[in-house]
Amino acid sequence: MIFLMATNRDYYEILGLSRDASNDEIKKAFKKLAMKFHPDRNPDNPKAEEQFKEAKEAYEVLSDPQKKSAYDQFGHAGVNQNMGGGAGFGDFSDFGDAFGDIFGDIFGGGRASNKSNVYRGADLRYNMAVTLEQAYKGTETKIKIPVMVGCKSCSGSGAKKGTEPSTCGTCQGHGQVRMQQGFFSVQQTCPNCHGSGKVIKDPCGDCSGSGRIKESKTLSVKIPAGVDEGDRIRLSGEGEAGLNGGPSGDLYVVVSLKPHELFERDGGNLHCEMPVSITTAALGGEISVPTLDGTAKIKIPAGTQTGAVFRLRGKGIKPIRESQNGDLHCHVVVETPVNLSENQKKLFEEIETLNQKNHEKHSPRSKGWLDKVKEFFD
Ligand SMILES: [Zn+2]
Ligand SMILES: [Zn+2]
Repeated sequence: MIFLMATNRDYYEILGLSRDASNDEIKKAFKKLAMKFHPDRNPDNPKAEEQFKEAKEAYEVLSDPQKKSAYDQFGHAGVNQNMGGGAGFGDFSDFGDAFGDIFGDIFGGGRASNKSNVYRGADLRYNMAVTLEQAYKGTETKIKIPVMVGCKSCSGSGAKKGTEPSTCGTCQGHGQVRMQQGFFSVQQTCPNCHGSGKVIKDPCGDCSGSGRIKESKTLSVKIPAGVDEGDRIRLSGEGEAGLNGGPSGDLYVVVSLKPHELFERDGGNLHCEMPVSITTAALGGEISVPTLDGTAKIKIPAGTQTGAVFRLRGKGIKPIRESQNGDLHCHVVVETPVNLSENQKKLFEEIETLNQKNHEKHSPRSKGWLDKVKEFFD
């Protein structure tokens, strides 16, 4: 019954799926990983066991429509909220039809036995989307997260005040029992105490014997200047409370960047498109461009072409692990005028007539292109 979040990794990533994967794909992906990493096939291989647990956890969430939607919305924190104190990840009662006899009972054995029954609380994950401006300057924000905290009435034991949990008679406190299942000899979570090794005769009224109660707490999170997509901020000890005196888990705030109307970020550098009128491009001029902290001016030399890039040094972002600001790259797009008046059309025609008199001089690019076309056909 104890839910230990084995992973902070994205569940879809663990199963190698995209976010729009179907139920069938989720099932298939998990089955494949489960076959590969199952502890019975990988004895004494902690890495495989870890991967098995990860896959199992991911499957358990993504195959449950309610948990899946909570996860899609809130990430790991959303899922943990739903885990509550009741049936946790050790409960496979609804597994039967997915895998039939092969897997039904074996899964219980994947869980490492835990002699002391002291568990570190689960790590929690909180997905936070920030604007580019917030990422640039840094920000401080308050978040509300659901957490399981130790029950104060029973000090986390789950037993009514003045009483104590007693050792489980079925497993003698081990939390696991051995079962013969076809070819496999498997360890199963004790059905009597659900793995805790203890039974509570007189459960605490406040937490119904789970030892933990659900609360939501508000935390202040400092987002440092320079954060980028995928950066994680760890709030040590702010995850779920541990069980039976175990330490609390950590809370990871995982940053994602909201798309920006003007700028695209690439590490420390920013890119933006800069429309330049055909006249300015031809004659040269000065253009004002927005930056994250104001505006800057760019001198456009005469004869500027589409695709030219002007770099404003230091007008990008300083990534957390770097010591210098990146640059702002302005990509020129020469804009063709539209909705012309008769007069404007006439003037353009005049320009074109003059251009034709010395085409090579005025349109070097067209000249080069025409030469290549000619070569191609010869
Ligand atoms: Zn209690
Ligand atoms: Zn037991």
